[in-house]
Amino acid sequence: MNGTGTLYTISAPSGAGKTSLVNALLERCEALRVSVSHTTRPQRRGEKDGVDYHFVDEAEFQAMLDRSAFLEHARVFGNLYGTSRAWVEEQLAAGTDVILEIDWQGAQQVKQQLPATRGIFILPPSREALEQRLNGRGQDDPEVIAARMTQAVEEMSHFTQSDYLVVNNDFDQALTELAAIITCHRLATSRQQQALGGLLDNLLN
Ligand code: 5GP
Repeated sequence: MNGTGTLYTISAPSGAGKTSLVNALLERCEALRVSVSHTTRPQRRGEKDGVDYHFVDEAEFQAMLDRSAFLEHARVFGNLYGTSRAWVEEQLAAGTDVILEIDWQGAQQVKQQLPATRGIFILPPSREALEQRLNGRGQDDPEVIAARMTQAVEEMSHFTQSDYLVVNNDFDQALTELAAIITCHRLATSRQQQALGGLLDNLLN
């Protein structure tokens, strides 16, 4: 892959506010897109096929695996999830930055294949806040909440594999920090050299 866009993975335990932050980030930053994953998980109420996920059955997922259509894939909470290799390659080649909202296993696979990928991890501000967010409407069984907490702690334990840590205490602050990461990479000399070719020619020649 010789594209000019930067690939980002964003991982977080559920309850950290990742999806809302990513949606706000997409509104704030131009030339930034999020990959729509394929999954075998049943569609939840309010989710749209092709928007939230591409919902497929196990046979279709396996067929895509067989033709190496996934850049990465993982089983998360019993369901299969995968990122389309072709779509990501196309976007990066066009100079678009791409976000993959994926779990730590997927982030690890992507980084191994494409070491220039930047990994971002979003953390909740405290254990209590996370517990409250996982508790949802406060109607769930304490055992169900405890199981969610265990999963969240397991996901968070992989934070060391990421390049950036953002704490979602104040939403706007976390959003500003995420946008700063994107901006910082866009200002790298290697990227600017391509973007500012005309200016550099004009200044130097
Ligand atoms: P949910 O089913 O609640 O939307 O997502 C469950 C978990 O799967 C989340 O941690 C999410 O980041 C992860 N996930 C979603 N899409 C992908 C993907 O394409 N690859 C991997 N490895 N994980 C994914």
